[in-house]
Amino acid sequence: MQQRQARVAVIGAGPSGLYAAAALLASDVPVDVDVLDRLPAPYGLVRYGVAPDHVKMKSVIRVLRKPFDQSRVAFLGGVHVGEGGVPLEVVRQHFHAIIHATGSTVDRELGIPGEELAGSLGSGAFVSWYCGHPDHTKLQPLLDRPGVAVVGAGNVALDVARVLAKTADEMAGTDVPDPVLETLRSSAVRDIHVLIRRGPQHIRFTPAELRQIGELANADVLVHDDGTLAAGVEEPEDRRHRQMLDMLAEWAAAEPAGKPRRIHLRFLRSPVEILGTGGRVSGVVVERNRIVDGRVVGTGERETLDVGLVVRAIGYSAEPVPGLPFDEATGTVPNVGGRVVRDGEPVPGAYVTGWIKRGPTGVIGTNRADAVETVTALLEDLPNLPDPEHPDPAEFRAALAAHGVRPVDWSAWLRLDAEEIRRGGLRGAERVKVAELAEMLDAAHGAPTG
Ligand code: NAP
Repeated sequence: MQQRQARVAVIGAGPSGLYAAAALLASDVPVDVDVLDRLPAPYGLVRYGVAPDHVKMKSVIRVLRKPFDQSRVAFLGGVHVGEGGVPLEVVRQHFHAIIHATGSTVDRELGIPGEELAGSLGSGAFVSWYCGHPDHTKLQPLLDRPGVAVVGAGNVALDVARVLAKTADEMAGTDVPDPVLETLRSSAVRDIHVLIRRGPQHIRFTPAELRQIGELANADVLVHDDGTLAAGVEEPEDRRHRQMLDMLAEWAAAEPAGKPRRIHLRFLRSPVEILGTGGRVSGVVVERNRIVDGRVVGTGERETLDVGLVVRAIGYSAEPVPGLPFDEATGTVPNVGGRVVRDGEPVPGAYVTGWIKRGPTGVIGTNRADAVETVTALLEDLPNLPDPEHPDPAEFRAALAAHGVRPVDWSAWLRLDAEEIRRGGLRGAERVKVAELAEMLDAAHGAPTG
C-alpha cells in the first residue's frame, strides 16, 4: 500500500526545530516539512543565544542548515504563530502534526525588591541585545558605572561576564551589530561581580567556558570564596568539576595581574535587594549564605555592592503556547517523550522538542537526541493521525497571505545572510548582524539597504 504524503509543521527554526526537521527527513516516511519562525532568520539560539565571540560553536549552522537543501523542507520566516499572528488553530488545519520548538524565552525573576528598576535585566534580554535580536535593539543597557552584578553560576552568567569584560576592540571582529559595538566602546564597566549563591563545589559552569575568563587579555579573575577552597572541599566524582575546582583554587591563590577590568567570582552570596536612585539601579545588597543539608540559608550578614546594572542569569521559562497545556513550575509544556499531554492524555498531532520540552538545560547537541525521541513518537502516531482539512501546501501559503503574512523563504533568508556578510567585510568581521526587523525584511525581500 502506498504511504500518504505527511505534512508536518515545525514551529521554531532554532537547533531543536532543525534537528527535528533532520530527523523527519532521515525516516522512510514520505513527509513534507514547513519550518516556521517568528523571525526572518533561522537558527534561533545559535544566532541569538550563543555568545558572539564563540565563533566555533556557531559553526554548527553548517549541520543545522542541511534540511533546507531538500525540496521537501521549506523555511517560512517572519511567521508568528499565536496571539497577534497566525492562530495555531489555522496552522493545525494544514498539517498532520505540529512540532513546537520555540525554546525558553522568558527570563526567570529573583523575586527581590528593586528588580523592576531601570538597569535590572534578565540575561535573556541582555544576551539578545548584544546578539542583535530585533526585539531588543532598544534595550540600551546602562553601562555607565564601573560596577555590574551578574547573578548565577551557569554558562550564561559566564557569557555575560566575559562580554562585559572584553573591550570593544576585542568584540569588533564578532557579529555584534554596530550600535552594540558603539555602546560597548563607551562602557565604563570595570568590576563585574558574579554572585553565586552556593559554593565552588556547586557551580554549573563547564571547564572550557570557565577557563576562558581566566585567559582574558584585559580582565583579571578574583575569587572570593571565604577560604572554602583553601580549606578543601569534598573531591567531586566528576572529572570536569575537579578541573574547575583546580582552576578556581589556582586563581584564588594568585595575585591579580592589574589588568584594567576585573571579574569577581563571589561565592555563597545572594542578592536580597536591588537599590535605586531616580528609578535606576545604584547598588545591590548581597547576603552571605551557608549551605545546610544542600539548601541555601542566609546568614543575615550583608554588604552593599556599588553597581549600576544587575543582570540575572538564573534560567529561563518557556512562553505558554495558546491552546496547549503549560506547567508553570517547570516552565515547559507537559509531554511524554515529546507527545504533548493534557491531563495525562496525548493531544493528537501536538509535539514538543528542545527547551520547551525539557527545560533550559544541556548544550546545543543535546537537542539532537531530544528531537529524535520526539520525531520517533510522531512517526509512530502518524498512521492514526487524521488528514488535515487543507493538505495542499499552496493552501497554507494562501492562508498566511490572508493573515497579511509574506513569509521569508530560504532564498530570501540567503539575501539577508549575504547582506550581513557584506557588512562584516566593512568591519573586518565574518558577518555583522542586521538587527532592526524592518531592515532585516528589506534585505531579505531585496529592498535597498544602507
Ligand atoms: P544554568 O546552567 O541552569 O544556571 C543557572 C544558575 O542560576 C545556577 O547556577 C543556579 O544556581 C542559579 N540560580 C537559579 N535561581 C537563582 C536564584 N534565585 N538566586 C541565585 N542564583 C540562582 O542555566 P544557564 O546559565 O541559563 O544556562 C542554560 C543552559 O545553556 C545550560 O545547560 C548551559 O550550560 C547552556 N549554555 C551553554 C553555553 C556554552 O556551552 N558555552 C553557554 C550558555 C549556556 P543553583 O545551581 O544554586 O541552582
